[in-house]
Amino acid sequence: MTSIKKRIYLSSPHMSGQEQEYIAQAFQTNWIAPLGPHVDNFENEFAAYVGIQNAAAVSSGTAAIHLALRLLDIKTGDFVFCSSLTFVASANPIIYQGAQPVFIDSEPETWNMSPVALERALKDADRIGKLPKAVIVVNLYGQSAKMDEILTLCDHYRIPVIEDAAESLGSTYKGRASGTFGKFGIYSFNGNKIITTSSGGMLVSNVADAITKGRFLATQARDAAAHYQHSELGYNYRMSNVLAGIGRAQLKVLDERVNARRAIFDRYRQCLSDISGIQFMPELENTRSNRWLTAITIDESQLGVTIEQLLEALTEENIEARPVWKPLHLQPLYEGTSYYSHSENVSVSERLFRTGMCLPSGSNMTEEDQMRVIDCIKSSILNKLIT
Ligand SMILES: *Cc1c(COP(=O)(O)O)cnc(C)c1O
Repeated sequence: MTSIKKRIYLSSPHMSGQEQEYIAQAFQTNWIAPLGPHVDNFENEFAAYVGIQNAAAVSSGTAAIHLALRLLDIKTGDFVFCSSLTFVASANPIIYQGAQPVFIDSEPETWNMSPVALERALKDADRIGKLPKAVIVVNLYGQSAKMDEILTLCDHYRIPVIEDAAESLGSTYKGRASGTFGKFGIYSFNGNKIITTSSGGMLVSNVADAITKGRFLATQARDAAAHYQHSELGYNYRMSNVLAGIGRAQLKVLDERVNARRAIFDRYRQCLSDISGIQFMPELENTRSNRWLTAITIDESQLGVTIEQLLEALTEENIEARPVWKPLHLQPLYEGTSYYSHSENVSVSERLFRTGMCLPSGSNMTEEDQMRVIDCIKSSILNKLIT
């Protein structure tokens, strides 16, 4: 008889204990509304943390991307370039706006947007007069993309960058906070992210007018009139004051959360890197990843097991692990969308998808939990070698 073992999640919410105080404050003052003092404070505290001038707290990371596209006036017929190896939410708002995505491959050093592929795509687009109106760059699993190279290219063509830092809050690129490099940056506080408000997001920019306009669009675009007058199409995208209270408490422990996730990554590497056939997601020089998720790639022929077999073995032990994001150009939803691979005959994102997986990385995972994951991986590889 097998007893059911405690479930180990990929990345579960990790409260600090201070959240209740902030929530209680919201209740005591009856600010149970979208907007309120916690929202204002959360925006200011968040902006100060990442070192940007303006931030707008919204209902999700997806909403923040949508607002950024609206603020850049992306509309039907426009093109937007976007990283292919990412969660679908990075690109869906392009479709909300009736625009067309073009997907850009990853490069091997960061797993993020390949400047080489981006350059080819931009040259082609320029030749036919179809330059994109924005480029959405994703920082996967906490690792910053090669922002200098990407920004140089985009500046050359005068194309604004939206930095999708949903997974990289607390990470840095050349000492500066991830998410602050583009015209807009977006973050997510979904339940699985490094800090959470259960659901929520942040739109940031150094352009004050843009964030003011973003807040306006996020509150149904109400004109300054008592009688609910609207001249523009808006959304109900603002963050609730209760959730912003949770966010304020979470922000205080963000550095601790980053350290905890990095320690988890290091322990995995220590315990697994002597197995030839397992490789860890790299960290680019001069960047510091929050290691939101520990991602590995495996060489099936060296290991003697496949990603599917490893995932199955972990599932049997009640451990949640996942393949790397399925590239968006391979998603049924985006069938037929243009795609630029890293080089003419090498698609890095497809290789990562075939060989990569994410291991449980929650900052509240105990060492004992982590050893269960490590033992399970080791024993499934050993078993395979014996049979
Ligand atoms: C989580 C995530 C989003 C979306 O954030 P939500 O708050 O869930 O809407 C966008 N992009 C990436 C890369 C993400 O991981």
